[in-house]
Amino acid sequence: MLKRRVLLRIIVSFLITFLPTVVFLFYIFQRISQDSLIKERDILYNNSKSLLERELKGLEPVSTLPKSPENKYYIAFKINGNCTGGPYYWLTTDSIYYGKNTSIGNECWFVGVNFVEFLEVITGLNEAEWLILYNRDYIEKFPQEFLDSFVKGIMFKDKYVIVGMSKQAVLNIPLDTRGYAVYGKLWKKNLVVEFPLLDSKGFPIGKVLFIKDVSQIYINFYVLMGILSVYSFALSLLSSLLLYVFSENLVDRIIKLQKLSSVIKEGNFSRIELLKTEKPKDELDYLRNNLVDTAFTIGRLLSELEEKNRELQELAYYDPLTGLPNRRFFFEHASLIFEEVKRYEKPLSLLVMDIDHFKKINDTYGHDAGDLVLKTFADVIRGIVRKSDICARFGGEEFVVLLPNTDLEGAGVLAERIRAAVSKNPVEHGSIVIVFTVSIGISQYRKGMQSIDELIKEADIALYRAKEGGRNRVEVFIPNETAEPQN
Ligand code: GH3
Ligand code: MG
Ligand code: MG
Repeated sequence: MLKRRVLLRIIVSFLITFLPTVVFLFYIFQRISQDSLIKERDILYNNSKSLLERELKGLEPVSTLPKSPENKYYIAFKINGNCTGGPYYWLTTDSIYYGKNTSIGNECWFVGVNFVEFLEVITGLNEAEWLILYNRDYIEKFPQEFLDSFVKGIMFKDKYVIVGMSKQAVLNIPLDTRGYAVYGKLWKKNLVVEFPLLDSKGFPIGKVLFIKDVSQIYINFYVLMGILSVYSFALSLLSSLLLYVFSENLVDRIIKLQKLSSVIKEGNFSRIELLKTEKPKDELDYLRNNLVDTAFTIGRLLSELEEKNRELQELAYYDPLTGLPNRRFFFEHASLIFEEVKRYEKPLSLLVMDIDHFKKINDTYGHDAGDLVLKTFADVIRGIVRKSDICARFGGEEFVVLLPNTDLEGAGVLAERIRAAVSKNPVEHGSIVIVFTVSIGISQYRKGMQSIDELIKEADIALYRAKEGGRNRVEVFIPNETAEPQN
């Protein structure tokens, strides 16, 4: 999730750096190509102007032609006949006349220069094509002969009479150009420069359009634009990639930290120290190691706590000296068994055992020896009873064994086995050998018994009888028997 967000931001930052660069480049190159176009236009203007002036110098003027109202320098040239009077038709740019004199019987034609040829010189110089657009209203005043001899290969379009270029090419050119314009598709571009044609009175005759192929300027523009765009694309991409690689590494490490924190959250502290960074390089590594250390400490404290809890549990349920279950354990488990026996009427027996003259052992050999006797007796019991039996140290030197699914006969056999085993198991305490014996009372569940206490009480009565009968013996409770249990 984090990774995807980082990637998205890097793509956005890439676009933010790349797109403005391209827009900026586009703007710069457009300005440059615009300048080139203006230069081309100026060349066309200036070349044609200077050429006109040069061509016209030294040619004989038609003396009868009037000066222009603006007093500009106009020159007309005879081509045939005697042109000594007016009126005449004439066409003019700033520097050229074309005309027909019909005032005298002999008509005469005159033209300053052959305008078409003149244009061809210009276009030769500038590698341009040309087009003359005569205003239809104006030129239709001229006699047909004039048009036939001067305006050849004409075509009519809108308000213009057109001379020059092929018809198809003419159709594609914007005839309403003012000043200059660029037309064409993609890199196939043409510069169109307009020259207005005026007569001597300043009326618009029409205009000349120079058409120059400026594709090269555009191709240069596109190629350079392309190269620089690719370059800036590569540059932006490279920097974004570097940024991505750098942040990916950061993101990976943050994800690892996140995984570590989930391991800690799950409380899985085993082998956590393996997640430590060997050689921490930066704050992230230190953070990771601190986390691991903290988790390790928590893990250690937790296992200590568990251990302590277990010990406490043992203390609560087990006798620390002999390791046998204690009175509490016995009652909790025995009462459950007793309830089951009550419901299903299954056999259940109980042994209550008391070491004989234990006080004397303590007094004679010391408390340690007494403890050793207690432990030995516990071991003997543990070695003889079944797993399903519940034995416990009841207190002092008194022990009990609850025998589920066991009748009096079975209990008697077991008790006898314990008694015999004890008497054959003297305790060696240093150099002293302590022989001890045990007395055992047995009781059995009978219908109508309400609690385990009754069973204990009856076994105690039997035990009392065993003590009374001389100790080191097993006695079974006889129903309706009453006696004071031994304390
Ligand atoms: P009897 O044959 O009638 O049972 O005689 P007894 O001496 O065993 O009788 P009594 O119950 O009076 O003696 C129990 C003695 O057990 C008293 C006490 O000092 C001793 N005792 C109780 N708990 C411990 C113990 O944990 N360790 C040791 N060494 N002695 C204990
Ligand atoms: Mg005793
Ligand atoms: Mg006792």
